[in-house]
Amino acid sequence: MFDAVVRGGTLVTHGLPRADVAIEDGKIVAIGPDLAGAEEEIDARGLHVFPGLIDVHLHFNEPGRTDWEGAATGSRALAAGGGTLFFDMPLNSTPCTVNADAFDRKHAALAEASVTDFALWGGLIPGNVSEMAELADRGVVGFKAFLCDSGLPEFPRADDLTLFEGLREAARLGLPVAVHAESQEITQGLGRRTVPGERSSVRAFLASRPVLAELEAIQRATFLAGEAGAKLHIVHVSSGRGVALAAEARAQGVDVSIETCPHYLFFTEDDVERLGAIAKCAPPLRNGGEQDSLWSQLLKGGVDIVASDHSPAPPDMKSGDFAQAWGGIAGVQSTLSVMLDRGHHHRQLSLERISSLIAAEPARRFRIPTKGSVALGMDADFALVDVSRSTQLEPGQLKQRYALSPYLGCTFRGCIERTIRRGKTIFMSGDIIARGGGNFVRPARG
Ligand SMILES: [Zn+2]
Repeated sequence: MFDAVVRGGTLVTHGLPRADVAIEDGKIVAIGPDLAGAEEEIDARGLHVFPGLIDVHLHFNEPGRTDWEGAATGSRALAAGGGTLFFDMPLNSTPCTVNADAFDRKHAALAEASVTDFALWGGLIPGNVSEMAELADRGVVGFKAFLCDSGLPEFPRADDLTLFEGLREAARLGLPVAVHAESQEITQGLGRRTVPGERSSVRAFLASRPVLAELEAIQRATFLAGEAGAKLHIVHVSSGRGVALAAEARAQGVDVSIETCPHYLFFTEDDVERLGAIAKCAPPLRNGGEQDSLWSQLLKGGVDIVASDHSPAPPDMKSGDFAQAWGGIAGVQSTLSVMLDRGHHHRQLSLERISSLIAAEPARRFRIPTKGSVALGMDADFALVDVSRSTQLEPGQLKQRYALSPYLGCTFRGCIERTIRRGKTIFMSGDIIARGGGNFVRPARG
């Protein structure tokens, strides 16, 4: 007798077969029609069985800034969006994850609080290249660097030499470096030029962070990664030209992966004017033409991974003067909904491709061999989805700490009905039904 069987769902794997999936000890042990009975019968008829979403980029800010979010609330929101594993960025926790001691503190806090499984990014900042080996021993998935100001003085940007030496060390350790690719010189120079009267205008902010700043930084980072022989992951690429530029580097042999975020695929700069600071992020939202070109790059295979870059802040930091407001979009719960609605229903993006962008490729790129697909021997992590049902996102549905999301009020076709983490249902019928239980996940050596 199996522990559980997910019965009669359509598996989002090649060919979309209808099948039962049997679970024992949190693993998938059988897939096929009419499997034998189980202690727990999970009815998935009429639903699609996606692998659990893996969010490779978010900020739960624990320890130290749990008044901004925290792993308990953040992971519940992730689970409500079909997520079963996240990679927490080295900031905006206190301390930032830039050495082994900071890693241990975050690991302990997340192991206590998270309802989903979790992995940790280490940070790459000036002066900490010598700490990277110990962070790798602890099990980080890679190292994150900023090419422009991060917004936190305790996480300074990587100058070119720091980036290059960090890339070389990461290559030696067999781990990728993730970069926030915007040029410091261009963004800072343009930012200084805004005249005082315009300072709080949305357009002045957008104009200070043009696509050019992203392209210049991608060019430099891919060049340095190629010279260092390192794996590079470019986070939150906001423009089609950014994707194309990184793809050119890949064609020349640089080992680079490309991430974008749902908000670049869903909102435009007009929405920043309409919504205000809640839609402020960096790189900023782009105009409709840039968004179309990002979609077209994604549809032709140029984007590897879609991640939320959930970066929440308390309400008082997301209101008032736009120039002073925290930059970050709190959308962890909406990634799969956006991809189903805007990708599948509006642009015929296949469900298999969505599954690749949110699960298979994150697991492959960051070497988590037990996750990312619905297959024998894998962890039984699933999102059960009604692909046709439409829902409107209401504040009461948001599980994150503050009901602040630019997606509030938006209607999505494609609804996450249930989330299962290692065989245990953690989200169902709109409610989180587990406390804690998340495991730390480390990359395989390779
Ligand atoms: Zn981020």
